[in-house]
Amino acid sequence: MKFYSTNNKALAVSFKDAVFNSLPADKGLYMPEQIPQLDPLFIKNIQQYSLQEIALEVASTLLGNDIPKPDLKKIVDEAINFEAPVKFLTDSTAVLELFHGPSYAFKDFGARFMSRVMGYFSQSDDKLLDVLVATSGDTGGAVALGFLGVEGTRVTILYPKGKVSEVQELQLTTNGQNIRALEVDGTFDDCQALVKQAFNDADLNQTLRLTSANSINIARLIPQTFYYFYAYAQLKSQGINDVVFTVPSGNFGNIGAGLLAYRMGLPVKHFVAATNVNDTVPRFLASGQYEPRPSVQTLSNAMDVGNPSNWVRIQDLFSGNPTELKAMLSSYTFTDEETETGMKMLISEANYIACPHTAIAWLGARAYANEHPGNYASVFLSTAHPCKFPDAIDVDVFSKIALPDGAATLQGKEKLAEPLEVDFEAFKKYLINHN
Ligand SMILES: *Cc1c(COP(=O)(O)O)cnc(C)c1O
Repeated sequence: MKFYSTNNKALAVSFKDAVFNSLPADKGLYMPEQIPQLDPLFIKNIQQYSLQEIALEVASTLLGNDIPKPDLKKIVDEAINFEAPVKFLTDSTAVLELFHGPSYAFKDFGARFMSRVMGYFSQSDDKLLDVLVATSGDTGGAVALGFLGVEGTRVTILYPKGKVSEVQELQLTTNGQNIRALEVDGTFDDCQALVKQAFNDADLNQTLRLTSANSINIARLIPQTFYYFYAYAQLKSQGINDVVFTVPSGNFGNIGAGLLAYRMGLPVKHFVAATNVNDTVPRFLASGQYEPRPSVQTLSNAMDVGNPSNWVRIQDLFSGNPTELKAMLSSYTFTDEETETGMKMLISEANYIACPHTAIAWLGARAYANEHPGNYASVFLSTAHPCKFPDAIDVDVFSKIALPDGAATLQGKEKLAEPLEVDFEAFKKYLINHN
């Protein structure tokens, strides 16, 4: 499969090139040249397959011969080595839990698959692949744990001192091996600026083989389609064929993957994007005007995105038919106050403790169901385990959260992080001296 830039369909590159240069020079995003269809017989019998089997079928349909099937199977089995259960909270409402991976957030799907694809495409005589990543919390953990132990790769994470939660910091800083953490005396924006400057620095690019673990990498989008198929398989095994997915959205990669799955033949009735007050897409769907705004800080901070980068991919998926996009996608926006109420209601109505992002998805699912009653399963996506967001959750509630396996051992581990000032020369020196 070739991948074209959304800004120039004539510019098509191999999967390998799209993975290592995640941004086309024309600043579009890579998309598959055609959307291949899954075998209808596979969809008909999908309830017979495991998550890993579904992932392999979807990935090989999408990638064709780019990675031979036995190699792709190895990548999928290593990357997707945790579950994504659908749990019914009421007769018609279910949660798709995507936080059973090592960083307790759905970004594990993308980061783990991408790390192994990058490892696969790195030849043994290539220089070590140096992955630089700035994080405000969630992405760094998924990338660190995704690349941990992947041969031929090394990760350097920059995170803002004192601005990530305890669990997040432990996930970033206790790995050792091929993962290094730099604790930056600044903000997330400072971290991001340092990383960007490194990518543009001639000396560094000559000495090191730098790459980004950018969220817009096509190798992060593809594995996010897997769990939509798998959720459908779980519903089908219960005799349910009609599903509406509600996705808590920031950069719109997650819901973009759902729409790609739909385009590949997954029978989904409808998608709902639920956002916090960073509502560029909901405003667009209402008015037809795409007017990005600077992002606003909220309780659901992993969704604080004013100009969602994956939106162009969604428009590309429906480029022949914008009316179909409107028919397939609804959206709702919620304030922090509503998010807090939503978290409380989920506990009182369903005894379910959710992170703020997940609570927004539930509110979106509920809003859509109120306006569109019908005989379908309403599945909302849970994107992170609540233990990652102590600041957004009531103290008494937080103390009742059952920690996932592994979280307790995390607490006993030693923090390994180098302090760094917001100073590019110091960052550069670190990278060169620690090569
Ligand atoms: C990244 C993230 C989101 C937003 O996902 P997008 O693909 O950017 O829309 C939602 N919830 C959590 C917990 C996240 O980490």
